[in-house]
Amino acid sequence: MTYFYRNTLVTVRKNHICEGCLRQIEKGEKAHSIAGNTTDFYSYYFCLECEEFADKHPGYCFDDQDGSFTPGDVLSGRREYERHQQEEAARRETELEANTSGS
Ligand SMILES: [Zn+2]
Repeated sequence: MTYFYRNTLVTVRKNHICEGCLRQIEKGEKAHSIAGNTTDFYSYYFCLECEEFADKHPGYCFDDQDGSFTPGDVLSGRREYERHQQEEAARRETELEANTSGS
């Protein structure tokens, strides 16, 4: 069985919902139209932010096992990623303070 996958940058001709963050993509906006098949045919839209994030950080958005996701997962992934970044920044700051204070 051959699978296909297609990801096209389009200007949407009517409003769509971004499957990544569930926000409305307005008519005339650019978005990614994604379609393919695994066991079933699927097709959905991703806004540019979600596409970029999912491309860079798939681990935050897709299931490790089969690469699937549920609508809204990219937004949760983006929030989780931001939290990790903030935690990391806070940790670095603490380390920096620990290094500069003292003798
Ligand atoms: Zn989105």
